[in-house]
Amino acid sequence: MSAPVVIIGTGLAGYNLAREFRKLDGETPLLLITADDGRSYSKPMLSTGFGKNKEADDLSMAEPGAMAEQLKAEVRTHTRISGIDPGHKRLWIGEEAVHYRDLILAWGAQSVRVPVQGDAGDAIFPINDLEDYARFRTAAAGKRRVLVLGVGLIGCEFANDLILGGYEVDLVAPCEQVMPTLLHPAAASAVQAGLESIGARFHLGPVLTRLSRAEQGLEAHLSDGEVVLCDVVVSAIGLRPRVDLAAAAGLEVGLGVVVNRHLQTSHANIYALGDCAEVDGLNLLYVMPLMSCARALAQTLTGTPTAVKYGPMPVTVKTPVCPLVVSPPPKGKEGVWSVEGLGADIKALCHDASGNLLGYALTGTAVMEKLALNKTLPALLA
Ligand SMILES: Cc1cc2nc3c(=O)[nH]c(=O)nc-3n(C[C@H](O)[C@H](O)[C@H](O)COP(=O)(O)OP(=O)(O)OC[C@H]3O[C@@H](n4cnc5c(N)ncnc54)[C@H](O)[C@@H]3O)c2cc1C
Repeated sequence: MSAPVVIIGTGLAGYNLAREFRKLDGETPLLLITADDGRSYSKPMLSTGFGKNKEADDLSMAEPGAMAEQLKAEVRTHTRISGIDPGHKRLWIGEEAVHYRDLILAWGAQSVRVPVQGDAGDAIFPINDLEDYARFRTAAAGKRRVLVLGVGLIGCEFANDLILGGYEVDLVAPCEQVMPTLLHPAAASAVQAGLESIGARFHLGPVLTRLSRAEQGLEAHLSDGEVVLCDVVVSAIGLRPRVDLAAAAGLEVGLGVVVNRHLQTSHANIYALGDCAEVDGLNLLYVMPLMSCARALAQTLTGTPTAVKYGPMPVTVKTPVCPLVVSPPPKGKEGVWSVEGLGADIKALCHDASGNLLGYALTGTAVMEKLALNKTLPALLA
């Protein structure tokens, strides 16, 4: 039998690529390998699960067996690849060698962890996949107070969701505003005020230095001397694309695994997409870009070399207490911001010197303008 097309990862990138591939090719052997349990789920749902009272099982859309049947593929679960040997077109699972026709890296990004002193480090939970979510739900059951580390997009979404789920929430981060790399300060203030209006308490500036067990729950010691009482901690301090195995195999890596517009790494027959990929200099950790990549790469893998294009990629942030849509200016483009609106309803627009719209941040009722604005936003990869 000829060597299969092998996809590493069964997240949205891996499974969507497999679907797109099967639309064009029903015959070539297809093997998906994943370190997790291989269930199909939509990761964005992880930060709306408490408000909707969904267990991890409720968020699972299909078991790996059903996915294998649907995709006419083999799906190997709880299987971690440990090395790639591009010269012989094979990869390693421990001692076992698996040969491939083409290899696609869709192995995502991993949660950043920071060392914290104290005896309660095991009460800190990153939530970056369905299994993490299941573990956190078990840990949070019957508890009342959650400390969220990080005030980026994911930290703010979890804060809103946990409050909807009945928890008290504190957030701590070493920055001056929420979503500092994504948001104009005026929009950030609107989101922070919205979250505060439903009870969120922000501790902006310090970091968590020590987490200790106390008589009732946990004591979180912050670097400014404050002590926050909580029962469990969510870590949302960032994600780092997985690059180590690629680098060890001699593939070019940067922010992510470096690929060109055809999603091809520095080695022929090895491609990457999703959170792990740096596509023509862009490492976008969102769903829309990976869907564009999956469609283009399926064409390439079936004999029609196709470059991926990114249109505008606005991101809807799931903070229902203060609706937010944001489209940051493209990398390397300088512009001038103007802000209209007050309180919860902010329209922050970024224009270049010729008056062209480069990006925006819309909150509250201003999000209704997104469709009109999207028409004039620049494409991220034309
Ligand atoms: C809480 C949360 C909410 C989000 N909300 C949104 C949103 O609203 N909108 C949006 O656009 N984006 C959102 N995102 C981002 C979006 O979900 C991700 O960009 C996307 O799901 C990434 O998919 P992926 O397949 O690249 O990676 P992953 O889903 O992380 O999949 C990686 C896969 O690789 C496997 N793997 C890793 N290493 C190995 C190995 N060595 N061997 C074998 N398998 C391996 C893993 O087991 C897994 O199957 C959110 C992210 C989070 C965490």
